[in-house]
Amino acid sequence: MRTIEHWVAGKTASGDGTRRGRVWNPATGEQQAEVALATRDDVDTVVRAASEAYATWSESSLSQRTKVLFAFRELVNANIGRIAEAITDEHGKVLSDARGEVQRGLEIVEFACGIPQLLKGDFSAQVSTGVDLYSFREPLGVCVGITPFNFPAMVPMWMFPVAIACGNTFVLKPSERDPSAALRLAELWAEAGLPEGVFNVVHGDKEAVDALLEHPDVAAVSFVGSTPIAKYVHGKATEQGKRAQALGGAKNHAIILPDADLEYAADQLVAAAFGSAGERCMAISAAVTVGGVGDDLVSLVSERARGVKVGSGRDADSDMGPVVTPEARDRIVGLIGSGEEQGATLSVDGRGLRVDGHEDGFFVGPTVVDRVTPEMDVYREEIFGPVLSVLHLDDVDSAIDLINANAYGNGTAIFTSSGEAARRFQRGVRVGMIGVNVPIPVPMAYYSFGGWKDSLFGEHHIHGPEGVAFYTRAKVVTARWPHVDLAEHQQAQFSFPTAR
Ligand code: NAD
Repeated sequence: MRTIEHWVAGKTASGDGTRRGRVWNPATGEQQAEVALATRDDVDTVVRAASEAYATWSESSLSQRTKVLFAFRELVNANIGRIAEAITDEHGKVLSDARGEVQRGLEIVEFACGIPQLLKGDFSAQVSTGVDLYSFREPLGVCVGITPFNFPAMVPMWMFPVAIACGNTFVLKPSERDPSAALRLAELWAEAGLPEGVFNVVHGDKEAVDALLEHPDVAAVSFVGSTPIAKYVHGKATEQGKRAQALGGAKNHAIILPDADLEYAADQLVAAAFGSAGERCMAISAAVTVGGVGDDLVSLVSERARGVKVGSGRDADSDMGPVVTPEARDRIVGLIGSGEEQGATLSVDGRGLRVDGHEDGFFVGPTVVDRVTPEMDVYREEIFGPVLSVLHLDDVDSAIDLINANAYGNGTAIFTSSGEAARRFQRGVRVGMIGVNVPIPVPMAYYSFGGWKDSLFGEHHIHGPEGVAFYTRAKVVTARWPHVDLAEHQQAQFSFPTAR
């Protein structure tokens, strides 16, 4: 069986090799590889490599860094197809979707290519007689990224292009369920001329994560994954004195008002709920219909859901692939069943779907659960599968209250033709990212991405300007260059210095 290894100081490394995880092909249901799971010693080796590289990379000039970033940008662009195939074969999502995530990741690299602009400091001349004041930002050291299975290229790319552009070195601990995309990216960094040890990949599970969080040479941790682990990682990292940002899970609501174009809303909802088999942190999983529009919407959405083509991600005809593991399939199927038991109606039931030629694949078909209420498990739990719950409410304000009562606050959307309602909604919801007639409002690379409440622990959103702030710290310099005349009337003061 093929083993997927770590990437340390510019080459593959087998590490201790005693612990291994299984990597499935979700479309066939077969195990296709083993992944090395790092021990504490393996983690120490990779952090040391990153730490050694930091000494020179943090001193590299902005033009050296941008040269490598531009070369990396070209290489990723030329290899989108290869990276997408690695994603599809391990994650299961359709190739066009996998290409889309690499493209969104590439946009962060393009943002990071502008690092000379982004790192410009401030300068104030003559803040006091003969005194100038200026500020600039410096890198932190070894930064770590711990990432989820659902975007094996894009989520790591939310982190490392910005961290590396700022002069840090990076250790990526990708999801052990789909580890290969990270290695393709590591190879491209090497080809782009990034010095050894600046970007490293260590595979592993809790043991590797704990070793990274406890390592004294790790300065900062960026995490994206489920809420319980996000909370744990943020708590442990900050306890150890590290800077941390930890993005967690989600339950994204779309509200549909009677004045919305229902055909448009149904098209958008189906794509947003079932794209990538619902395994997106910005997937819409609850459609909240308002003012009696619910039954019409359910019939439009259900008709479309039945038409979604489910199959292997490698098949160009597929709209939607399998879910990632047999455990994920069983959990999703269990939650659909709980909805039925707790009184909801299954308008479309994706359980038991069989795909010809892929009978052992981990497939669950698009599912529409109608008449869901907030107490039901299907509403309370993050399903992370192709399941859309529909709730029926009377007015916009009750929809806003429902969203605000939810523990998560990642994304949300409103479908309406009323500017007044949209504005009331965007001001009223306690959610980080909001779409107006846009179901998946993922900000562009030059803005920052992040949720509120249990969807993010820490002060900083990820990538964009907040990414630059996260991966650097400020220095402010107050400077005087005295000359003889000036020195005569610029005596040292014993009282607290004030401008003159
Ligand atoms: P996960 O929390 O299981 O895993 C994320 C990372 O944490 C992986 O690298 C994993 O190896 C590690 N990990 C898992 N268990 C651990 C433990 N006990 N101790 C330490 N580390 C551990 O998440 P997942 O299933 O890979 O991804 C899906 C989740 O990620 C969903 O909840 C989804 O909403 C969330 N997500 C959030 C965002 C966002 O931007 N907020 C983006 C993508 C995914």
